[in-house]
Amino acid sequence: MRIVLLGPPGAGKGTQAKDVSEKLSVPHISSGDIFRGEMNAGTELGKKLKEFVNAGQLVPDDLTTEIVVGRLSRDDCASGYLLDGFPRTLAQAESLDRELGAKGQKLRVALNLDIAAEKIADRMAGRRMCRQCGASYHLVTLRPKAEGVCDRCGGELYQRDDDKPETVKQRLDVYFRSTAPLVQYYQAKGILKQVNADGTPEEVRQRVFAALNV
Ligand code: AMP
Repeated sequence: MRIVLLGPPGAGKGTQAKDVSEKLSVPHISSGDIFRGEMNAGTELGKKLKEFVNAGQLVPDDLTTEIVVGRLSRDDCASGYLLDGFPRTLAQAESLDRELGAKGQKLRVALNLDIAAEKIADRMAGRRMCRQCGASYHLVTLRPKAEGVCDRCGGELYQRDDDKPETVKQRLDVYFRSTAPLVQYYQAKGILKQVNADGTPEEVRQRVFAALNV
């Protein structure tokens, strides 16, 4: 089961991806989490990534594809995965298709979390993330049981630098310019499923599971 999760920043991809990957027992491969791991570890690669990420820009396609496709060749991805945040450009989608084609593999579903642009800024302003495991929370719609502490692992919750208002607008511009065309790309391939992402995390989860027949 190879799935791509699409949708604008703030649509709830990370939150839904964690539930779907647990339900299907496939790894959740988030390009953003991989990049933040490098950035938090302060590696040379992390420093390079930080310049793009904190400016709300996309990391160049070649570098992104090398990192993410490299991750997909590990053993835990052999029988499937859930991709969250990759591909984000047509060039990345085509590279992924080429890599899959070379192995005789295919994507099963591209699931688009559909949400109106006006709703996104509020979602991103309230978002908090666990430093340790990457779980997402929201100050209003998905509160942790104890303030500032992750329910899953007890890690500290923080606001991502790129969720601050000055960067959010840039990320949305990038989304509409570079990533939104992927919806048509996967529709033309006949594997697109649309899910209305306007609702509580639980409501959206039920729609996502129904769309995936799980
Ligand atoms: P995310 O956690 O998916 O919102 O990603 C955070 C940031 O990482 C994005 O705003 C980009 O700067 C970078 N990033 C994540 N995935 C990609 C990708 N597929 N292509 C280019 N940049 C990416």
